[in-house]
Amino acid sequence: MAQKYEMKQMEQAKPNPFENALEQLRIAAEYLKLDDGIHQMLASPKRQLTVSLPVKMDNGETRVFTGYRVQYNDARGPFKGGIRYHPGVTLDEVKALSAWMTWKTSVANIPYGGAKGGIICDPKHMSMGEQERMTRRYAAAIAPIIGPYKDIPAPDVYTNAQTMAWILDTYSTLEGFMSPAVITGKPISLGGSLGRDKATGRGAVFTTVAAAKVNKVDLKKATFAVQGYGNAGSNYAEILQTYGPKLMGASDSKGSITSKTPIDANKLLAHKEKTGSVVGFPGSQKVSDKELLQSDVDILSPAALENSILPDTAKGIRAKIITECANGPTTPEADKILHKNGVFVVPDILANSGGVIVSYLEWVQNLERISWTEVEVNDMLEKKITSAFHDVHAASQKHGVDMRTGAMIVGVGRVADAVKTLGVFP
Ligand code: NAD
Repeated sequence: MAQKYEMKQMEQAKPNPFENALEQLRIAAEYLKLDDGIHQMLASPKRQLTVSLPVKMDNGETRVFTGYRVQYNDARGPFKGGIRYHPGVTLDEVKALSAWMTWKTSVANIPYGGAKGGIICDPKHMSMGEQERMTRRYAAAIAPIIGPYKDIPAPDVYTNAQTMAWILDTYSTLEGFMSPAVITGKPISLGGSLGRDKATGRGAVFTTVAAAKVNKVDLKKATFAVQGYGNAGSNYAEILQTYGPKLMGASDSKGSITSKTPIDANKLLAHKEKTGSVVGFPGSQKVSDKELLQSDVDILSPAALENSILPDTAKGIRAKIITECANGPTTPEADKILHKNGVFVVPDILANSGGVIVSYLEWVQNLERISWTEVEVNDMLEKKITSAFHDVHAASQKHGVDMRTGAMIVGVGRVADAVKTLGVFP
């Protein structure tokens, strides 16, 4: 009983992600000298939908899952944001992620607002049939508020191109015509974009390359580690190693590893696909999550979930550059410590914006009925994200602040301008 109570206390000690998001907004609002009304509007999601999803399980029982769609702000364009399947999903987490999406599309300077969705579930313990029925019921439940010009969902943790195909089919069936632009991250055969699957990792690499240049880190001699070897993390590792840095450690939900000799990122992914984890990769040692994050590397990429870099871990981080592939991996307190210690953090809303940038390119191709080659898509991604990096870097230099505050100044500033110019209805 006492142990259970302690665990509850530990869970509660984890910061509320929406409070983190509001604290980041408060800091940006101060620099931007936003008036109170605009600050309040930017601190409040425009719409929050909670849905109950009855699903027939394979054993014949019916289970009711809870799902959310939070539409944070659409002043700059239709709502945009992924859908997460995870047992730890909460409304506050979805609200935080939808706020970050709003600043992210603004930093990337693409004509979208921000949204996010999620279902409290454990897809690892559900069959494909159960996942499909749950996804279709969720798509039907949120159908009235999504659409190519309203809100365009995409994948996030534990959802993928197949999940997007089920949502597309359900939405289109209800509408009565095929509507590919309602969702991005689709399979190529259904109007998905070449390059979308690797876009988040590739975009994060472009920001790391830019960060290395401004910090005079020689990528040819650099080393790196990745926490969370999933879609974003493994693609980041595979692409970054082609620029020279050597992968020295990685982790997933089953554990963390480091190695004294460089790890081939492609072989590590093959090992994870075969065995279900990065743990046990030949020549590696199993270490704790903290040891991985504090290992002696030049570049560190948290690419799992939020709140993974807490103050205690931050104190011992030795990397010169942190590229946040994950959303919200660093708590505000940990952030202060990293800044004080001179660690250059490429913040989530900039570092992982490659996914939404290529989602935007996918949506444009669907609406225009055109298709671009992978090289064209990657080139447009590089130009957009590198220009976003320099906008943020210029803002951080101008105000004498870290890159996260710089990104918030750029992102929040553009949304605030749009909100102000639209005025208040009625
Ligand atoms: P994913 O499901 O493909 O990968 C997540 C990985 O994290 C898995 O390997 C999982 O085992 C690992 N993980 C889970 N809990 C962990 C823990 N406690 N310690 C270490 N590893 C753990 O998801 P993804 O799409 O790669 O998303 C990862 C992060 O990147 C999320 O924060 C997501 O919001 C963000 N992100 C993803 C995209 C995208 O396009 N995929 C875009 C923007 C942001």
